[in-house]
Amino acid sequence: MSNKEKIINILIERGGDLLKQPYKLNTFTKNPEADKLLNNLENYPHLFVLACVMDRQINSERAWLIPYKVSKEISSYEFSTFLELSQNQIKEIFNNKKLHRFNDLMAENFYLAIQKIHNNYRDNASNIWKDNPKSATIIRRFLEFKGIGVKIATMATNILAREFKIPMQDHLCIDISPDVHVKRVFKRLGFISKDASNEELIYCARELHPKYPGIFDLSCFEIGKKWCNPKNPKCSECYLNDDCIKII
Ligand code: SF4
Repeated sequence: MSNKEKIINILIERGGDLLKQPYKLNTFTKNPEADKLLNNLENYPHLFVLACVMDRQINSERAWLIPYKVSKEISSYEFSTFLELSQNQIKEIFNNKKLHRFNDLMAENFYLAIQKIHNNYRDNASNIWKDNPKSATIIRRFLEFKGIGVKIATMATNILAREFKIPMQDHLCIDISPDVHVKRVFKRLGFISKDASNEELIYCARELHPKYPGIFDLSCFEIGKKWCNPKNPKCSECYLNDDCIKII
């Protein structure tokens, strides 16, 4: 077995172990109350979906706070109260509170997302992912929301699989995230070129482990954060030290 194959196996095994770790509260914003609600997929799954719809053209922490801020304005987290809002009322809240960079457009997307959850998912956004679907099905369902593109649809599905441990038939469409740590580790391992694009990283992970390309995320993120620093990597402490070609 080549050094590269050895490393791939180690990373897949470590990724699998990390994936099996129990659910922990996810941090989406700097607001603990908002994070608690966004983690509550059982009672408020619409907040998670609406946050995904908002996540474009602005800082993601600000975007993920929007459903929480709207719920404060209407004094309710319940979907039934969101459903009572007209498009104009939502526009007013967005503009008064300056929730987004594009308030009119994003207010419309927010309103349309509520209508879609009502019409397609029987007022329960968790029906998007509840029926043990294929990863591609969940991504496609997210893509049907106005304002959600491939990047966010994949990210949302990633979060559901990895962080919320939502059962899915497969992980074929769960791509690696082009995170800065993950990318640096892939470069140093010699898997991708020094000036690789995000697409190169994504296709490399698909090539290495088509069954679940995103499996590398967790292990490489950990290595990048703990040992594979941008400067002076702590190779002697890293568990890939014996096989890594260390392209610095
Ligand atoms: S051995 Fe060094 S260069 Fe290779 S992944 Fe680990 S820390 Fe990075």
